[in-house]
Amino acid sequence: MEAFFWYFPVSALINAAASFALGFFVLVKNYRIRLVQYLFYFCTTVGLWSVAYFFWQISSTEASALYWSRMLMYGAIFTSLSYFHLVLVFLQKEKQNFYRFVLAIFYTMGFVWVGANTTHLFVAGVEPRLFFAFWPIPGPLYAPFLIMFIFQVLFASALLFVKYLKSHGIERRQTLLLLIGIFLAFVGGCTNYPLWYNIPIAPWGNVLVSIYIILTVYSIMKYGFLDLRVVAAEIFTGILMVIFFIDAILARNNSELAFRLLGLLIMSAFGAMLIRSVRREVARREELSNLARSLEKANLRLQELDQQKNEFLSIASHQLRTPLSIIKGYIELIEDGAYGKPTKKTVEILDHMDKSNEQLIKLVDEFLDITRIEQGRTKFLFESADITQILKNTVKEFEPRADAKGLSLKYKGTKIPIFSFDKDKIQNVIFNFLDNAIKYSDSGEILLGVEQKDNGIKVWVRDQGIGFAKEDEASIFQKFYRGKNVEGKNVNGTGLGIYVCRKFIEGHNGYVWGKSRGLKKGSEFGFWIPFK
Ligand code: ADP
Repeated sequence: MEAFFWYFPVSALINAAASFALGFFVLVKNYRIRLVQYLFYFCTTVGLWSVAYFFWQISSTEASALYWSRMLMYGAIFTSLSYFHLVLVFLQKEKQNFYRFVLAIFYTMGFVWVGANTTHLFVAGVEPRLFFAFWPIPGPLYAPFLIMFIFQVLFASALLFVKYLKSHGIERRQTLLLLIGIFLAFVGGCTNYPLWYNIPIAPWGNVLVSIYIILTVYSIMKYGFLDLRVVAAEIFTGILMVIFFIDAILARNNSELAFRLLGLLIMSAFGAMLIRSVRREVARREELSNLARSLEKANLRLQELDQQKNEFLSIASHQLRTPLSIIKGYIELIEDGAYGKPTKKTVEILDHMDKSNEQLIKLVDEFLDITRIEQGRTKFLFESADITQILKNTVKEFEPRADAKGLSLKYKGTKIPIFSFDKDKIQNVIFNFLDNAIKYSDSGEILLGVEQKDNGIKVWVRDQGIGFAKEDEASIFQKFYRGKNVEGKNVNGTGLGIYVCRKFIEGHNGYVWGKSRGLKKGSEFGFWIPFK
């Protein structure tokens, strides 16, 4: 026999080994899963076909060649059918009525071929063709069988292709691998047919069938039930153990045998440990990725809720703002005597009303600021202004409130050049800091200061009020955060004021701070913004 001729039986042997090894391997892994059972079924049919192929190729008599080429046909009849069935199970379509019907037809025809295969209608005989001593001669039923075979393969491929187009991520990659596998097998396997019809092409592509099996098993198992690292560890340990075992058998005397068996024992123990640790590691990673996935989902849900909350706040605040402004207007008109001179008592009551109304307006404004910030709608209007003038005016504005609480409010500042900033926003920040300083102090002095620093300005409000503990420092500028220092105190607030301040200052590329030496030791809130 010529050397290259060995290629054909050897290719069959490789196909058989790959099919049976993988079929057995998947079954051992998880025989309870339906998809695995069909994978095993498919591997077995390809394996049987390959074994018969091998014996047919090495046959030395006509009778034996005829016998094995007929055996080969039994495998061939069921390879396309088992593949089609496997694809249906993979796509979870095998329970649909239409596909049940298709399967019923295919299996019926399959058994018709099986019956025909015992007669001359299918394989009529064998004769020498090309460099093969015994090549099968097709009977009249062989051509219809071939059409059916190709139809089943194309049908399965079409279903996979549709799935490929519709799926994403892992599923898409998995389907692609299956498609590549079937394409290779088709190209390779098809080289088996020409010679049946006297076209002088030898089955050079036969070995590609192995790749088909390997890719199919790999694709389904990898993305399905197991990790390749575990498989690698198992194969590695298995090979080592076989080597140690052979080495032990080849021992020359008993003491050497004992020694080598001990080696094998130790090796097995280490191997088992290795496999276990790889398994554990893989399981842990899977757990982690599951966790990450569910966290991601929860996070998305939270973002959605946050968005809905913002929209609600935005709508509610806009609806509230207008009536509050109208009430404010009327209070001022009544106080000014537009509807007749008010009595002293009335003015007193109007003052209370005005204060409460102002509180509400501040709250609604904060909500509006927050929703604008969170929806990225905050607009900054930068224009040149005199910061010292703004600070002095603000001090004047707050003096009556400080006086009323017996606090002394002072201003300390150096000359600052005119520069560009959003006047309203910065004023809002200073208002908030001063408002808090007064709100959270019962006595002492409040100092508003400004100085030039690092090519920008630093503004701070220092008080001798309730102060706050170190643990609050990190969170004090967070949304809705109210410090431990205000717990149990009857002071109105939402924990939004200085959060809004931080956002406004960050909009100027600056930063804020709040510090205190501790409870009852006063505090300092301030910000820095650059000149440009
Ligand atoms: P609130 O509406 O509660 O005043 P803010 O956002 O203005 O909300 O302030 C957040 C928290 O920071 C307050 O609840 C308080 O714990 C703390 N805080 C702010 N300013 C001062 C201050 N001057 N002295 C002590 N604590 C303050």
